[in-house]
Amino acid sequence: MEKREQLYRGKAKSVYHTDDPNKLILVFHDDTSAFDGKKIDQLDRKGMVNNKFNAFIMEKLEAAGIPTHFEQLLSDQEAVVKRLDMFPIECVVRNLGAGSICRRLGLEEGIELNPPTFEFFLKNDELGDPMINEYHICSFAWADEQSVESMKAMSFAVNDVLKALFLDGDMLLVDFKLEFGLYKGQVVLGDEFTPDGCRIWDKDTREKLDKDRFRQGLGSVVESYEIAGRRLGLVFD
Ligand code: C5P
Repeated sequence: MEKREQLYRGKAKSVYHTDDPNKLILVFHDDTSAFDGKKIDQLDRKGMVNNKFNAFIMEKLEAAGIPTHFEQLLSDQEAVVKRLDMFPIECVVRNLGAGSICRRLGLEEGIELNPPTFEFFLKNDELGDPMINEYHICSFAWADEQSVESMKAMSFAVNDVLKALFLDGDMLLVDFKLEFGLYKGQVVLGDEFTPDGCRIWDKDTREKLDKDRFRQGLGSVVESYEIAGRRLGLVFD
């Protein structure tokens, strides 16, 4: 597979075209950012750890019957994925209260959400990724009604698979963000699943093993991602 021109350059990853119009290459960087790019840092090994973490999770989801864009690892920091036509939408599932829902609704961190709750956000940095609802999505044609239903159903299916997987490693999957796109007319999970886009706590101590370590200046960011990965059975070199 030949890497061609860059399609997108983000803080944490870049996307490249390839000689196959249906395939892209993701490159996971060591850079990390939070608060809409206001806090930025370089973290040694992060690109490799997130690339392998993502591959592991995507393969588990595929095995559980959830279609994803993941194809294969290409190198320590690169992976081949299907080229999706992405919806400009973020889907968030929450099992426990943390982050923005606590600020918005005045909740105490760690409160159980039963049943788990779901939120849509618009991917728009300038607007600070505002929360939106299904009517907005249809009115503005960001996705059709059937795709909205698929995104919700697939997000909850991902939650069922991953909540159990993390619990096996004595971890709580607090919340996570997913992005979807269309591939040959089918809604498929895209983007990434790494500790950059979810919250993972130790089941007993509730120690944070995710990007909140960076956001909150707790230190040992990549080390914590590796601990979470190893507890799932991942091997990092
Ligand atoms: O900030 P908030 O609490 O709404 O985030 C919910 C979940 O979605 C967290 O796991 C966070 O890391 C993830 N998220 C993300 N990218 C965003 C917004 C949220 O990965 N732009």
